[in-house]
Amino acid sequence: MQISTKKVVSIDYTLKDDDGETIDSSEGSTPLAYIHGIGGLIPGLEKALEGKQASQEKLSVKISPEEGYGIRDERLVQSMDKEAFKGIEPLEVGMQFQAGHEGHESLITITEIEGDKITVDGNHPLAGMTLHFEVIIRDVRDATPEELDHGHVHGEGGHHH
Ligand code: ZN
Repeated sequence: MQISTKKVVSIDYTLKDDDGETIDSSEGSTPLAYIHGIGGLIPGLEKALEGKQASQEKLSVKISPEEGYGIRDERLVQSMDKEAFKGIEPLEVGMQFQAGHEGHESLITITEIEGDKITVDGNHPLAGMTLHFEVIIRDVRDATPEELDHGHVHGEGGHHH
C-alpha cells in the first residue's frame, strides 16, 4: 500500500542537525504513527514519504527550515517579568510553557534568566534548522472513519482512549 492522504503511516525515525547530533529518535520506543496529508508531520517529511511503501530500507531526507519548523521570528523572543511565572519554582532555562488563548496556543521556552527578567522564545525549538531525517516506513494502512473524525491515530503509536 502506498502512502497517500488519509493513510495511517508508522515510521521509525532519527532526526539529526547539521552537525550530525541526534535531536530526536523513535529508537527504543514504538514507531510514530500519523495520518498522512492532514498536517500531522512537517510538510517536508510528508512530501518525502508521499507515494512510498513500507520497507526495510532507510530513507535519508534533508529538510529546509521552510519545509520544517519554519524560519525563526525574533519578534517571538520577549523579556518578561518574573512575576508572570509566579508559583512556578524553580524556574530553569529550557522549561517550556503553553501560552496564549485556546485554539491559538503556542509553546514558549525559557532561554535566559537574569535576576527578575525572564527571556522567553516563542519559536519552535527546531525553527530555523535544517533537519536530517533517517526514516524507515514500518506500516501503511487505511485510517478508520473514527480516526479521521478525531484527526489522530488510535492504537499503537497513537492515542489510547
Ligand atoms: Zn481519538
